[in-house]
This record gives sequence, C-alpha cells and structure tokens, in this order.
Amino acid sequence: MGAFMAVAQGSAEPLRFIVMRYKGAAAAQAPVVLVGKGITFDTGGISIKPAPEMDEMKYDMGGAASVLGVFKALSHLKPAINVVGLIPATENMPDGLAVKPGDVVTSMSGQTIEILNTDAEGRLVLCDALTYAERFKPQAVIDIATLTGACVIALGAVRTGLFSSDDALAQQLHQAGESSGDSCWRMPLDDEYAEGLKSRFADVANVAGRAAGSVTAAKFLQRFAQNFSWAHLDIAGTAWRSGAAKGATGRPVGLLLQYLTQLAASSQPPVATKSKRAVTGAKTSPSRSAVSRPKARAARKA
Ligand SMILES: [Zn+2]
Repeated sequence: MGAFMAVAQGSAEPLRFIVMRYKGAAAAQAPVVLVGKGITFDTGGISIKPAPEMDEMKYDMGGAASVLGVFKALSHLKPAINVVGLIPATENMPDGLAVKPGDVVTSMSGQTIEILNTDAEGRLVLCDALTYAERFKPQAVIDIATLTGACVIALGAVRTGLFSSDDALAQQLHQAGESSGDSCWRMPLDDEYAEGLKSRFADVANVAGRAAGSVTAAKFLQRFAQNFSWAHLDIAGTAWRSGAAKGATGRPVGLLLQYLTQLAASSQPPVATKSKRAVTGAKTSPSRSAVSRPKARAARKA
C-alpha cells in the first residue's frame, strides 16, 4: 500500500487500516464493500493549506465516520446482507519525513503515481483500499470521501456528488438518496476528463488542473476500480457544516442504509461475479428499475 503509506509517513501517529465485516446473509452471497476516507486531520502536508478554517480539517474523516455509522446501524437493523467496511486512517502532516511534491510512489495495484500535490491525499489512501477491496469479490464497492473542494463549488451543501461506472448502481444510489432525504447527484466520468492526470514520470499524476476537480479526482479513483461495480460519493460539501452551526451532519449514513436495506429486501440475492451485467441483472427487480429509470435519466443529463 505504497500510496496510503506515503500519506502517513509525515505523521507521528501510526496509520491504521481498519477492516470490518457485517455478516447478515449466507457466506456465499457477495458483499457490498464500503470504503471510507479516514484522514483524521488534513493539514495538506507539504502542500500546506491556508490557515483560515483549518480546524475543520478534523472532519476529513467524514467518509470513515459514515462507514462506522452504517455498521453501528447494521448491528441494530440486522438486514440480510453481507457488508465489508474498509477504512484507511491516517493524518496528513508536514514533516521532515513527509512525502514531497514530485515523489513517485507505487500503489498496491502496481500503478505508479507522481504526487504533484500532497493535499490531494484522499485519493492516495483510497486507491490502495479499492485495490484491497478486490479480494472480497464484491457485488459493489462504494467509496465515501470528503474528497474535493471542487465538489463543494459544484453542488454546495445540498447534494452529495455521485460518480459511478455502473448505471444500475448509480440509479440505486440516486433513488436511495431521494427516498432517505440524503440526496446525491450524478456527475460525469468521460475519459477526456482524465487527460490532465497524465504524467511523464509515472502511470498517473495525483492531480490535474483546477477545472472539473471533483471529476478528475473520480477519474483517478476509477483507475483502481476496474474489476468491480463501483461508485464514489464525494461528501466534501455535505459531511459537515461551517460557521455557527459547525459540526458533522452524519451524511451519507441515511443514503447508504437505504441502499443496503433495499438491497437486502430484494428477493434474489446476487452472487459473486466480475460481470457487471450479471450483477446488476440479479440485484434489480424489474418493477424497481422501471420506477427509478426516469429519474436516473434526468440525473445523467445534468
Ligand atoms: Zn487534503
């Protein structure tokens, strides 16, 4: 996990990679894997952040916290489903030992990464966790992260940014957001957005230009999510509030629980497979997909 370790090397606190399992269904049933970004404090590292509101960077573990929240709720609700929770947890600190802009690291997938900005650390800890998720032969992998300021600019504090390479999974998550009041909005993943991530020295750079920053971050993650059905929730705008109402919101625990309990309620449990078509065909009942299709189509137009 060279990418995750590169972020952690500047901190006096040792990193932790947390693995949780909720077993509510037969062992043969493929799990949903939730991956939560757990940056317990984000200074930006050597690419250090400006001072104002830096205290709020304690909320950069909002993705991890939402995974923990989902697991607490699962233990009470006991739905018939299997869920794995993965949390790469570390601080991102500036230090004599910290990773430097220009350093090239090797991720768990074998892909090399040129770290151009040490404040784009969330994708570095997530990419190794996504590779780790493959071993569970998941029916779907959803990562949750306070990933980009660009997502706050795009969607504000109202809707979470949703990115997915799987239309059926995107529909299910969008619908779960609508019915739980914890809404999200689908964003694009055209390959042209990945152009700016090209590097002369590595397989990929960890940042592109300022334009469409939430999309280029998702394009980075997508490189590590090729072998399963994948969605990414950018909660940078929705995980916490600033100012007088400062504090965590608990989002998107509601969205995720709605998705998981609906999945558990579906009569035909999906089986482990790498084929997206087989997975989505098994887990979506004809009536539900017919209902959710128009809204998802509207989402794609945006
Ligand atoms: Zn950062």
